[in-house]
Amino acid sequence: MRPGQLAVLLSLCLLAVALPRACGGSGRFWHLTDLHWDPGYEAAAAAGRPCPSGGARAGPAGPWGSYLCDAPWSLLRSAARAMRGRLAAPDFVLWTGDDTPHVPNEQLGEEKVLHIIANLTSLIKETFPGTKVYAAMGNHDFHPKNQFPGKEHRIYSQTAELWRPWLSDASLPLFRAGAFYSEKLPGPGMRGRMVVLNTNLYYDQNDETAGDEDPGGQFQWLEETLTNASRADEMVYIVGHVPPGFFEKTRGKPWFRRGFNERYVGIVQKHHAVIAAQFFGHHHTDSFRMFYSHTGTPINVMFLAPGVTPWKTTLPGVSNGANNPAIRVIEYDQDTLQVLDMVTYYLNLTRANTMASAGQGEFPEWEEEYRLTEAFQVPDGSARSMQTVLDRISREPHYLQLYYEFNSARYDLELCQQECRVDHLCAIREVDFIKYHECVKSNSSASAASSVWLLVFCTFLGFLSLQQVL
Ligand SMILES: [Zn+2]
Ligand SMILES: [Zn+2]
Repeated sequence: MRPGQLAVLLSLCLLAVALPRACGGSGRFWHLTDLHWDPGYEAAAAAGRPCPSGGARAGPAGPWGSYLCDAPWSLLRSAARAMRGRLAAPDFVLWTGDDTPHVPNEQLGEEKVLHIIANLTSLIKETFPGTKVYAAMGNHDFHPKNQFPGKEHRIYSQTAELWRPWLSDASLPLFRAGAFYSEKLPGPGMRGRMVVLNTNLYYDQNDETAGDEDPGGQFQWLEETLTNASRADEMVYIVGHVPPGFFEKTRGKPWFRRGFNERYVGIVQKHHAVIAAQFFGHHHTDSFRMFYSHTGTPINVMFLAPGVTPWKTTLPGVSNGANNPAIRVIEYDQDTLQVLDMVTYYLNLTRANTMASAGQGEFPEWEEEYRLTEAFQVPDGSARSMQTVLDRISREPHYLQLYYEFNSARYDLELCQQECRVDHLCAIREVDFIKYHECVKSNSSASAASSVWLLVFCTFLGFLSLQQVL
């Protein structure tokens, strides 16, 4: 190398040191959610009884789990092993809650819930020693479930103790007071900020906060945090468990109370410029939500990560709502926090159990399910690109079907048509209550109108063929 070239290289390096933000590299992190450990799974399976989380639903209980049940410990250990194998040293981990099994409150209790949270916390700590974990509480991580208060509680302070190694000194008192917090991302020159919310406060099953305008003062705190982030030129990820908007696997099923949903959407619209993306769980399915400006420009995206538990939901109106266990890596720009790509891994539970009963596969393989940019032919995971994904799945049946199979991590491979299509597209497009209902109504009437024409056409054909027979 000539001295001139060396000087140029040196000054470039100096510039890179002085302006780390100009040279944001790409990083990776895990998002895992809805582990729902069923501690009674193995004993029930050994005794030939249905698993506790299956209720009265009896079915085969394989060594790696069952679609009717929450996760046995073997499945969680296998997920941890897969994560270490695929990416042992992520920049950080997002863990968006729901640790306990789907059993009645009477079978749990405060101590049992805390014991389960403690066990999963240990598993994640052992899987990623020394790695920062941003953990959010799920609606099942409380006793009685869903009943999160907007003030101090023993479960909050005990959980804060368990997560103490992951929480900064400033986050601890906040967590004890309402289970939400915000922290700057680690690393020199990083301008990223993580905002972890306790959206269980907005869940319509939560009687503790039903009459509150701003439970725990979280909305006000969120607005202040986003305003401060904007002043400090930071970019933010918002992380939580129960998402706003509607469940895509049935019609007209929101989670937030109406007023809370409205306020959340309003905050995203007002502060979208500092929100790089949002990451939530609770659905157990793989989907996303779009946020728009008042003029209809896509301004933000929320990624809903599929769950680790395969548990088939008992929610009325959902048919065959189980999923394969899944975990996800997000690739991002360390400076702007822009989502660059997303890789989802899944365990084909049927195959894993079949192989185990044939005496094969000591550890089942978690396969790569898909890479966002490849599967949907988009450059990245920005709001603009996700709008393109939405447009593709709206217009091209091939993309809709691809999205639909990913939605349950390839558990449900039925065709998604008519009502299924409207339910998914309207849930992705409209987080706002009024707009969602308008979307369903206009699309259903469009499809209803086309069905009427189809019926008229078929009757006409039938009439013709009848004439030929007679
Ligand atoms: Zn869950
Ligand atoms: Zn949940």
